Amino acid sequence: MLSIFKRRERDDLFDRSFRPCAGCGADVYVLAEDCKDCGSALELRAG
Ligand SMILES: [Zn+2]
Repeated sequence: MLSIFKRRERDDLFDRSFRPCAGCGADVYVLAEDCKDCGSALELRAG
């Protein structure tokens, strides 16, 4: 398994661009429809 998302920087812009996957906890881009790591479908949250 690759661990390329290991760094946890407190960057507001970065945090706003990603959200935690409900399935595996990986950071998933907010505009992505599903997680690249586990394939879980993510709900798009507006607002
Ligand atoms: Zn996932």
